[in-house]
Amino acid sequence: MPPDQKQLFDAEPLPWELAAEEDLQAADVVFNRPMEQTFSYLIPDDLRGQLQPGQRVRAPLGRGDRPTTGYCVGISRPSGSRKLKSLIEIIDRQPLLTPHMLDLTQWMSEYYLCSWGQALNMVVPAGVKNSAGTRLRTYFSPDDEALLRIDEGKLPAKQAAVIAALRDAGEPLQSREIEQLAGCTAAPINGLKRKGLLRIIHRRGAADKQDLTEKAPKEPDLTLNAEQQAALGTIVSALRDARHQTLLLHGVTGSGKTEVYIQAIREVVAYGQQAIVLVPEISLTPQTIRRFESRFDSVAVLHSHLTDVERHRQWQRISSGGVQVIVGARSAVFAPVANLGLIVIDEEHETTFKQETVPRYHAREVARRRAEMASVPLILGSATPTLESWTAAQRGEDTLIRLSKRVSDLPLPPVAAVDVRNDPRCVSGAAIGRALQTAIRAAVEDGGQVILFLNVRGHSPVLWCKACGEGIKCPDCDITLTWHKDRKLAMCHTCDYAIDPPQTCPRCGNASVRYFGIGTQRLEEELKSKFPRYTCLRMDSDTMRKRGSYETALDAFRNGEVNILLGTQMIAKGLDFPNVTLVGVVDADTILHQPDIRAAERTFQLIAQVAGRAGRGRKGGRVLVQTSSPDEPAVRFAVQHDYLGFAKAELVHRREMAAPPFCRLARVILRGLDNDEVIAEAERMAEILRTAATASQVPFRLLGPAPAPIMKLNKYYRHHFQLAAAEAETIQSLWRSVANELPRTSSVEYVVDVDPLNMR
Ligand code: ADP
Ligand code: ZN
Repeated sequence: MPPDQKQLFDAEPLPWELAAEEDLQAADVVFNRPMEQTFSYLIPDDLRGQLQPGQRVRAPLGRGDRPTTGYCVGISRPSGSRKLKSLIEIIDRQPLLTPHMLDLTQWMSEYYLCSWGQALNMVVPAGVKNSAGTRLRTYFSPDDEALLRIDEGKLPAKQAAVIAALRDAGEPLQSREIEQLAGCTAAPINGLKRKGLLRIIHRRGAADKQDLTEKAPKEPDLTLNAEQQAALGTIVSALRDARHQTLLLHGVTGSGKTEVYIQAIREVVAYGQQAIVLVPEISLTPQTIRRFESRFDSVAVLHSHLTDVERHRQWQRISSGGVQVIVGARSAVFAPVANLGLIVIDEEHETTFKQETVPRYHAREVARRRAEMASVPLILGSATPTLESWTAAQRGEDTLIRLSKRVSDLPLPPVAAVDVRNDPRCVSGAAIGRALQTAIRAAVEDGGQVILFLNVRGHSPVLWCKACGEGIKCPDCDITLTWHKDRKLAMCHTCDYAIDPPQTCPRCGNASVRYFGIGTQRLEEELKSKFPRYTCLRMDSDTMRKRGSYETALDAFRNGEVNILLGTQMIAKGLDFPNVTLVGVVDADTILHQPDIRAAERTFQLIAQVAGRAGRGRKGGRVLVQTSSPDEPAVRFAVQHDYLGFAKAELVHRREMAAPPFCRLARVILRGLDNDEVIAEAERMAEILRTAATASQVPFRLLGPAPAPIMKLNKYYRHHFQLAAAEAETIQSLWRSVANELPRTSSVEYVVDVDPLNMR
């Protein structure tokens, strides 16, 4: 290039060019799609100054430039010479997410290997996205192009004042707002509208404010016992430290953990901050809610039964700072509090804190991260902490606080394991053995109440052919059908498949179909025939379908209208009925023998939690556990109320197996309609990961691929493999390094589950 020409090209931009360049702004946008990229769009002149990160926008995406909703995550200067497409519109008037929440969701996308857009889309509730419960409102802004074509100086004074007010405001305004600012009536606005000098914008405005909480009568704080006082002291000093710390509150059932949370939150509220309390959905009972509402002026409750409108209002109350305490299930970890002071997770061992759809996050890990970012403490409370949390506390990464006794010195109830192998009734297929039957009678005759727990719903969980020895399975799933006697149907518990019970075996044609195993319906039948004078109430997802039925049932039990309450998980947790003197675990083996690394841990947790329902009153109480494995450590330690002993023994086992918490896992599940194709893809994917790991010398293991325990689900064949490494980051960075090479076919889908809990 000749020097003079080169000079021409390198020349400094002229001042007006510079101004134009500096003025250019691009929006960084992510979409709710499984793709990692952030896209840049030019912000057109008329939208300039109205966009902030955290607002949703519509922008052209993909082939055909389809207008697509995305989230603005940043605003930057356009880089490079690439010509950018322009945003089409800004959807929200205000950001839906604070910068903190943008950071948190970005972390989620990195940790849980999903896209940032997917994380954002999950965090913002539907009711907030569609502004449920708000009216469509009309806003005006000056139409600068049209104004250029006229002589503004000739506008009537009132109309000029309207334009001036709008320019001052720098954002579209409603008629009422303009009238106030310009000191005019609606007439000049209408005049400008008729001349085509105003842009008209329809938007949904803020929800009408309305206080939803009915005021519960206020109650004073309880006087803490010495252990509670010490626990509170540790928490309060963590709060005053103003830095992040995770505290594991290990307290036996009924040791008064909730009272400690409440008094810790009082400190937080005194600083003008807000607290988030996560509890399992099933524990969000009116009882629990009342406990918080009777102590604090403003409580927001977030549970899955809220309508979109209710959820939207709660979201606005919370983000405006008008709420002291947010009590909610898993997703309340995303509550938009402005000034976070503390997060509490009660019953941290509950598996419902893990979401089983993308992003497959665990509320405990998200809470940990959120508390870290806000430099506030996180309290994890449980009588049976997960071995992950327990190990972190043992290693000194987290702080351990213990409450070793029930309040007011009520003893923990005695627990006995009954070996059903020696019980002729159980051997011949009955649900209730001799010891349990005697204990039920004694408890009820003595004026007490009984809770019976069984983890299996339906009548008989196995339909089985005696001639060919095969289970009768759902044609779409690798699961035997469950006989539901009340509806006279053989049903699949993982899909909607239901048929009249087959008279002959579909495989061998013999009329030898048998019903096998015991579900809650059959247990209820047996109770009614053994104790015709006692009233029974069954609680499982078949009887508790209607909204409110759960509360009605528990009220009936509390009022003493029911002698025996029987049911599934639903009744194992958190219930506090002083008159319960007997709790029976009908079959502890259902969980114990599952092919899952956490089977023993879950069995221990279950027995301990169920036992926690007994002996909460003056009458005392006891627990009977029916099992054919009374010598299993999970059962033996649970009978002794010995969490420490169990944790120690189980951790030895986990270390030998190199299983969590001694490693981190990610599970990759593939599914497709053609079994061979799924196998081939699983092999191919595993090979790519192995090669990448070898090349970069990453210390990691790949287990599988193998058929998933439920190999066929809803017509799809499923195969999986697991990645194991000492650190989660090892797996995450390995995955990201090959993400672009991984197969993407339409016939085989896959998901990654980081820190998986469900191994089915
Ligand atoms: P946890 O959450 O550990 O199972 P809770 O907080 O539910 O225990 O307490 C069990 C019962 O003891 C509740 O009825 C509660 O009101 C009561 N309680 C808790 N702390 C005290 C205390 N310091 N004095 C008297 N009663 C208490
Ligand atoms: Zn099925």
